[in-house]
Amino acid sequence: MRKNIVAGNWKMNKTLEEGISLASEIVNIVTDEVKDDVTIVLNPPFIHLNSVQHIVKDSEKVFLGAQNCSEHESGAYTGEISVGMLQSVGVQYVILGHSERREYFNESNEQLANKVNTVLANGLTPIFCCGESLDIREKGTFVEYVSKQLTESLFHLSSEEFSKIVIAYEPIWAIGTGVTASSEQAQEMHAALRKHLAGKYGDAVADETSILYGGSCKPSNAVELFANPDVDGGLIGGAALNSRDFVGIIKSF
Ligand code: PGA
Repeated sequence: MRKNIVAGNWKMNKTLEEGISLASEIVNIVTDEVKDDVTIVLNPPFIHLNSVQHIVKDSEKVFLGAQNCSEHESGAYTGEISVGMLQSVGVQYVILGHSERREYFNESNEQLANKVNTVLANGLTPIFCCGESLDIREKGTFVEYVSKQLTESLFHLSSEEFSKIVIAYEPIWAIGTGVTASSEQAQEMHAALRKHLAGKYGDAVADETSILYGGSCKPSNAVELFANPDVDGGLIGGAALNSRDFVGIIKSF
């Protein structure tokens, strides 16, 4: 059975003290109240990772993730963070190709393929983001566009390598806007992506791949979104900054 996953992307929010409080609250509430089989990933800013690791390290449900990494292993790349560094502070997941990284930092499908390789080579799990702009949604070519993102960044992988990937479908028009994709729109895209994966890697691998939804997901819409057969959880931005909202989403399975 593929995993149900809820990952919180804190983006560039929270001071260290605030981040420690948020992570502690989440771990405490999850320990007391979350019974279901859900993998929870907290993705704080880089400089909070070490402190948050101390909070999550004894939890069986909550794991640590980063929001980005360098495609290089080490060396003269001022300001960058390597996967080896992330691993050394207990990081297990790395978000790659978030639409904000693609848009503001010009990350291409090709560069993301290199980042995917580096993350996998170090034994960590990529949470690979994909998604279309409003313009592409309105043109009707969204399935082709998002499928191409997967093809160009992931389809060089062997089946064994690909089986370690988590996909996050995040329509750009739904991120931080309060406009969520409808349950039908999410299911339609997730099913289309799973079919695309099956075409390359076969049904067994496609069926085992967790595909998360992201974009204005909140406690009030998570139940409906997660009830879809091809939606295996969420990548949560705004609602991950408040412990009650975040845990409310986790409890929506
Ligand atoms: P949002 O962000 O939940 O605030 O829309 C999701 C994301 O960007 O991962």
